[in-house]
Amino acid sequence: MVNRFAALVATSTLAASSMLAQSAPAYTAPDAATKDLALGIFRQLIEINTTDSVGSVTAASKAMQQRFLDAGFPASDIYLGGPNDRKENLVVRYRGTGAHAPILFIGHEDVVEARREDWTTDPFQFVEKDGYFYGRGTQDMKENDAILVTTFLRLHKEGFKPDRDMILALTADEEGGKSNGVDWLLKNQPDLVKAEFAFNPDGGGVELQNGKAVSADVDASEKLYADYRLLTTNPGGHSSLPVPDNAIYHIADALQRLQNYSFPFELNAITRPYFEKLATMEPAQTAKDMRAMLATPPDKDAIARLSKSPEWNSTMHTTCVATRLLAGHANNALPQMAQANVNCRILPGHSREEVRQDLIRVFDDPKITVDYVDDGGTVHGGAPDAKGLPPVALQPEVLRPLEKLVAAYWPGTPVVADMADGASDSVYTNAAGIPTYNWSAIELETSDVRAHGKDERLPEASYWKGVQFWYDYVKMIAGGS
Ligand SMILES: [Zn+2]
Repeated sequence: MVNRFAALVATSTLAASSMLAQSAPAYTAPDAATKDLALGIFRQLIEINTTDSVGSVTAASKAMQQRFLDAGFPASDIYLGGPNDRKENLVVRYRGTGAHAPILFIGHEDVVEARREDWTTDPFQFVEKDGYFYGRGTQDMKENDAILVTTFLRLHKEGFKPDRDMILALTADEEGGKSNGVDWLLKNQPDLVKAEFAFNPDGGGVELQNGKAVSADVDASEKLYADYRLLTTNPGGHSSLPVPDNAIYHIADALQRLQNYSFPFELNAITRPYFEKLATMEPAQTAKDMRAMLATPPDKDAIARLSKSPEWNSTMHTTCVATRLLAGHANNALPQMAQANVNCRILPGHSREEVRQDLIRVFDDPKITVDYVDDGGTVHGGAPDAKGLPPVALQPEVLRPLEKLVAAYWPGTPVVADMADGASDSVYTNAAGIPTYNWSAIELETSDVRAHGKDERLPEASYWKGVQFWYDYVKMIAGGS
């Protein structure tokens, strides 16, 4: 996630953590053997197409399964399974002493579609060029899958015995599709993934601006994702004889009302402290607006001015926006059908059904039906009632070592807990009672975020740093000998 406000906030624990930083190792590049291993895994994952349309998550899971078997992990500690033969998930258990409850690491193996003609290079070829690794999934999130696999294999080879089991789950259908792997595992193999807490490197990370690290973000709160289909039908007729009751105008009017609507302003236990801190750091007028926004009652004009920033707007509000349109059947016919997709990102504490009712109220047009579209694309008359979960508390046993190691790797960079504008697989683990931290040790220029986009790429230096970070971090949080 890239979030301007996150970039400006310092945590109060930073001073304390840097005093303790002596025990955290500074960054040194991984040795040649580790680089070889990490590169081979990364290349292999990128070159296995795992898109929903034509790819196979199973192929990626099996390739990683083989690596664990070859490394001597017992077959009984490796599980491969899923709802169908293209969507099999891999779960590997690295046995510890059992002094503490397990830690779970989750990573999705599927990637967003990528078309050869849109890209400069073949998206399913791993290309090393100008200090970057190119390929679909190099930012989201095969780099982190490869890092986690590398970390497990490397520690295992060294004979590292953690003080708790470590579980790695590589899964299907985070980006779309009907077979979300984390959801499936929690429902079908809950004992395999039961853990005290979890890491999901599908969010968070180190933000760089002009090469300088400005913040290390841990996503401890997420918005809920929801799609809604607006649909209206009409008898239609000849376009030479227009009538006011027109399917396209109904949808266009509804979307205009949505454009002019803002969901209520709301802060929570993560976002309020951010803005409080920001108010001490921003330029005078912005700081004044933030104080006015934080006051009781909040100042509406100040909220309106601050909401001009898309990031701040998204932090303060549930957002809904038109993303697709489909209407009409001929140039010379009145439309018999018009539909639109509206995509919403819902603040914690609210449900998808609640927002569906809000939308119906905003559109205020009985000729338009507003249905919920689930992750698999199925349309439903109603939406789920489950509310977005409250922010996850940052446990000291997770946060303190993280702050120490960040201080050693990126000196002076604050660790910032924030709310993701999107949602990840952590919604499933959090809902199952496994507090999940979205943290990635990947550093990335805020201007070079290419996840889901063309020519997705990762700086080689960022990859090596991530490889080394997780190795050091796991040793800190899993104790052992
Ligand atoms: Zn992702």
